[in-house]
Amino acid sequence: MSKIPLVDLKASYAKQKEAIDAAMQEVISNTRFINGQEIKDFDAAFAQFCRTKHSIGVGSGTAALHLSLAALGIGPGDEVAVPVHTFIATAEPVSWLGARPRFVDIDPETGNMDPAELKGLMEGVSAILPVHIHGRPVDMEAIAAIAADAGVPVIEDAAQAQGAEIVKTDGTVVRAGGYGIAGCFSFFPGKNLGAFGDAGGITTNDDEFAAKVKMLRDHGRTTKYEHTEIGYAHRLDTLQAAVLNVKLTVLEEGNLRRRELAADYSEKLRGVGDLRLPPATPGQVSVMHHYVVRTHHRDALLAFLKEQQIEAGIHYPIPLHLQPAYAFMGHKEGDFPVGEAYARECLSLPIYPELTDEQLERVAAAVRDFFEKQ
Ligand SMILES: *Cc1c(COP(=O)(O)O)cnc(C)c1O
Repeated sequence: MSKIPLVDLKASYAKQKEAIDAAMQEVISNTRFINGQEIKDFDAAFAQFCRTKHSIGVGSGTAALHLSLAALGIGPGDEVAVPVHTFIATAEPVSWLGARPRFVDIDPETGNMDPAELKGLMEGVSAILPVHIHGRPVDMEAIAAIAADAGVPVIEDAAQAQGAEIVKTDGTVVRAGGYGIAGCFSFFPGKNLGAFGDAGGITTNDDEFAAKVKMLRDHGRTTKYEHTEIGYAHRLDTLQAAVLNVKLTVLEEGNLRRRELAADYSEKLRGVGDLRLPPATPGQVSVMHHYVVRTHHRDALLAFLKEQQIEAGIHYPIPLHLQPAYAFMGHKEGDFPVGEAYARECLSLPIYPELTDEQLERVAAAVRDFFEKQ
């Protein structure tokens, strides 16, 4: 029985091997490793994909968050609202800048920052940083209204949400990264759009913000030898941009395939054991970065699947307020009960465009099998 991995980067590479190899070879031959044309091409193409005015390639998703917060002047004395259910990179750059995260509990269904919780925690908050977790859009309209009331900016952590769509009540559609002042994307290899190493991008519709981020990503440089501010070494690599240009051409169809697979999983797993399946969020278009089920038997199910050569994952087992790195903030178990329950119960099943119908059936059958034996 062959193993079904959680993410299959080899299958993804095989699909576009020739084009990717050629694009990389071109950079190696022309040796424009830094600030090459491929970066400008990728920035233009990714802005078009996200339907934003600008996209600025940077070194990683974490760098995208760091630069966006820095460009907004976040620093000591500031607090930034961050959901407890996310990867730690959402909060780290807040701390690097000398500011503090203000943790916010999540919606029990979607796993995203809960606007009702956020509302009660806005006192003293200088920016809001929601995450489109697992590729599912956050309730941006509710969060934007709270932000407008408080007069603070919204930065979207769209690391998992390339192509996700937010449908507003007036019917207009905004892609993830195009709603707040900034959208922060990660092109970590396992993301829906993945590079061959670390890479990221920032989308924005604001010319001034775009110019500031471009300056900050490259040592605060305004001309070759003039540095107007102390900036950062957060550039995107030309080689990574070359890979991303090729992979971007199949992102849309990959996202469609992910949604198809998710619908298939949900059909095959409905009513099985105590499983809670990803909720349908009418109108909102998720790009299904993770397919997350919830169960009180999570750890046993994870171990059972492993025995069947099926790799599942946990995104994420420890909410941010209980991470040792944030122990200094003095939070304790029970402070964010919805996020804590999610962390105990969530399990991610394999999902990626190259997953075959047969592989999905094998995963679904194994899950059903596990609950029959309970
Ligand atoms: C991947 C990820 C990041 C960090 O991106 P890197 O490219 O790994 O730095 C930030 N936030 C979330 C939600 C992520 O999933």
